[in-house]
Amino acid sequence: MTHVIVDTCIRDGACVEVCPVECIVAGKPEDQWPWFYIDPDTCIDCGACVPECPVEAIFPEEDVAEEFNAAIAINKAFFAEGPGYKANET
Ligand code: SF4
Ligand code: SF4
Repeated sequence: MTHVIVDTCIRDGACVEVCPVECIVAGKPEDQWPWFYIDPDTCIDCGACVPECPVEAIFPEEDVAEEFNAAIAINKAFFAEGPGYKANET
């Protein structure tokens, strides 16, 4: 299981600061990956990021609302297909 960021993310970066395994990455280029993403293979489901988000855009995968279901695959693709962690270098 993993936590998932949905498309209401406003890219303020608050969640990145608290993740103990550093698995949250800002989507880049922004026009292709317009929010932040959680690496599903590294997330330990600790939940520390959830209360940090000012817009409540982070959910355990099983609690993602139907309207945001596409975000689950989009988060996975960000790491499986790239740019993934390479986005941190740009
Ligand atoms: S649930 Fe924990 S490990 Fe997963 S992204 Fe949030 S802070 Fe990181
Ligand atoms: S704290 Fe919420 S709004 Fe800010 S970058 Fe993380 S998911 Fe996006």
